[in-house]
Amino acid sequence: MLELMRVTKIYNIGNEDIYALNDVHLSFEKAEFVSILGPSGCGKTTLLNVLGGLTNFQTGELLIHGKTTKDYTDEAWDAYRNHHVGFVFQSYNLIDHISVLANVELALSLSGMRKKERKKAAKDVLIKVGLAGKLHHKPNQLSNGQVQRVAIARAIVTNPSIILADEPTGALDSETSTEIVKLLKELSKDKLVIMVTHNDLLAHEYSDRIIKLLDGQVIDETIINHSNTRLESSRPTTKTYMNYATALKLSFSNLIKKIGKTIISSIAGGIGIVGVGLVIAISIGFSKYVEIVQLTTNTNTPVVIENKTVIESFPDPDNPAFPVPPRFPSNQLYVTPQQTSPPRIYEEVVNEITPEYMTYLNNLETDLYHEIKYYYDMTYPTFLRKDDNDKIHSVNYSHSNSADIGEIPYDDPSYMSQMYDVLYGRLPNNEMTTDRIIEGILIISDRNQLPDNMLNRLGFDGYNYEGQIHFDDLLNLDIKIAHSNIIYEEDPNTELYKRKDNDAIYEDEQIITLRIVGIIRRKQNAVIPQYQGIRYTSVVNKMILNETKSSNIVLKQQQIIDNHLVGGTPLYSILTGQTITLDDAYKLLRTLGIDQVPSRVLIYHKDAVSKELIKHYLDAFNLDKTHQDYILMNPEQGLDSRLVDSTLSSINVVLILVGAIALFISVSLLSILSYISVIQRTTEIGILRSIGARKKDIFRVFSSEFFIIGLLSGLLGIGLLYALLPVFNNVFSAVLRTENIIILDYLLVMGLLFGNLLLTFMIGFIPARTASNKDPVDAMKSSL
Ligand code: ADP
Ligand code: MG
Repeated sequence: MLELMRVTKIYNIGNEDIYALNDVHLSFEKAEFVSILGPSGCGKTTLLNVLGGLTNFQTGELLIHGKTTKDYTDEAWDAYRNHHVGFVFQSYNLIDHISVLANVELALSLSGMRKKERKKAAKDVLIKVGLAGKLHHKPNQLSNGQVQRVAIARAIVTNPSIILADEPTGALDSETSTEIVKLLKELSKDKLVIMVTHNDLLAHEYSDRIIKLLDGQVIDETIINHSNTRLESSRPTTKTYMNYATALKLSFSNLIKKIGKTIISSIAGGIGIVGVGLVIAISIGFSKYVEIVQLTTNTNTPVVIENKTVIESFPDPDNPAFPVPPRFPSNQLYVTPQQTSPPRIYEEVVNEITPEYMTYLNNLETDLYHEIKYYYDMTYPTFLRKDDNDKIHSVNYSHSNSADIGEIPYDDPSYMSQMYDVLYGRLPNNEMTTDRIIEGILIISDRNQLPDNMLNRLGFDGYNYEGQIHFDDLLNLDIKIAHSNIIYEEDPNTELYKRKDNDAIYEDEQIITLRIVGIIRRKQNAVIPQYQGIRYTSVVNKMILNETKSSNIVLKQQQIIDNHLVGGTPLYSILTGQTITLDDAYKLLRTLGIDQVPSRVLIYHKDAVSKELIKHYLDAFNLDKTHQDYILMNPEQGLDSRLVDSTLSSINVVLILVGAIALFISVSLLSILSYISVIQRTTEIGILRSIGARKKDIFRVFSSEFFIIGLLSGLLGIGLLYALLPVFNNVFSAVLRTENIIILDYLLVMGLLFGNLLLTFMIGFIPARTASNKDPVDAMKSSL
């Protein structure tokens, strides 16, 4: 069954070779009780370890079932240890954080037995060794003799054919020693029991055979009792295997036992989560804030090139002559008229924007800007509104920028929603439906007001509404837009063009409907001008430009000009029939809606750097020009966005540093703790290995421990994060005047939990690997 052939095991210490076993030749075939005697250090333990497959040797052979073990795989050794051999140690080597029953069960869970059978088998052997009443005690609640009985129960529960006991009575008093030896004797009826002992008396009284060792050599072998019982081999081996549930259970009970350490580890991990989580959340929130600040400062100060400087003076909405409603009312769903005097406009011609310049602008790097807006100096279209009494009100505007009706600051709804609160309805789409409906919005002042003259012109007599126009009356408001091609028709008698009456214009099937789909107000923290009025997306002007270019009236006037230039025919206005100058003729063309070059260009740059690059590019246009042909940008006003940019980015760097430090601290703490945890548990590793656990199983036990810690610290960290969130948000809102800078969306939370699990696992990976690679004997020795 077991045979050692000339086995030599040498330990090398320093330069000295120690022969722990020296040419040992032994054979065990029968079920018998063998005692091994010899002075300390003579190689007894080494012999048992070799027989049990716990350690290797240099020369000779170990035969199991008559077969050499030279080519045994790790798995074959694991199976041998688990199914054929039971170990009993002087120092018991029980796992003390689990119950007596669990200790015994553990050996079975490695053999793949089902839970129910496992429990029953473990109970049975514990009853057999006389511990019926102690199943749920922890090892440290038992006497030494009782503990050794548990160890014996654990050794025999897998029903091995071989029991290897290394000084099982070494720590026991003589009475208890006798009981344990009797128990082993009992077992030797159908098993091979090999016991190392110093107790000659007991050995001689109970053994069937006594082997004496000295300096690694067998010096004497005495047979006291001839055994005739053949040793039956244990049942055929299946693979030893520990499932994740057992590994988790083992780790869990260990973590409960060392609850203090577990808490500290979790806090260590939690610190990391809180730090990293806060930093990520703050920088996400912060970069959003930065974007808004940049965007709003950019909106305030785009790069402007214009034909003439237009200085408009509006009444200051914040210093009115009359009592005014409060700013930024929260739940007020109506608009009040604001008393205004007409704006005054001063103009001064500075540039002559040329088609060449337009081409130059078109070549500007598109990465540098969000949008370029062109404004044309044409007569703006007529806007018509039919009121509740079917009365048509018409409004003409001469300058887009000063109008109550005009283009929206941004087409892109995402920019708009960063700067404006949508109080009612929604933001408009930048497209036209087949029945020529275009969407627009109404921008109201901070005090939910609209200029009274605008309301009047559109037919809202504010005072009929008792000073309050409900949002419902303004939402879905339809305003008709008519351009020259709709407004003018040819008089067949005079061949001149005349304006149709409003009813006819209103009913024209070409007319464009501008529908108000939302009411918006600038955000409290947005640094953009306080616009008031109706705004439509850029599709409107593009369309008008396109349609008027090919309108009959424009073509006709163009024809008159061409005829004059080529054939010298008289030059006259298509509207009045009166003779006009060439200059006036071009001006007329423009007012009819055609203009090749804009009078005003606004470039909304992306950030401070791109603004500098844009300015540089525009300056370069003038390089080969003479002074009078220069096209110049408007002088800068407002905030220097470079300053804002650099401040914000340095704050971000600080944030990242803080996060890195938090992460570093938590990783270091966790690494130390996980390393300590492995060191503390090397004995347990040895025990598990000696009862057949694979390296993988050891790895599982430890990795599941780190999994639990990772989960705990993750949950703790997230909890703390949620607790700290309002505190930080309050601080930020006080400093930056913005609410909810820090946002914890669930993706971030999941990411943090998962990332932490992964990190903890990785930190635990190296110690767990080391632990599982330890030699079982060495591992146990560390505490022997
Ligand atoms: P015993 O159990 O009879 O007291 P051991 O089998 O433990 O003796 O040890 C036999 C010899 O091998 C001793 O000299 C011991 O010092 C040496 N030895 C045992 N284990 C190791 C080891 N891991 N490294 C080096 N020497 C060892
Ligand atoms: Mg020993």
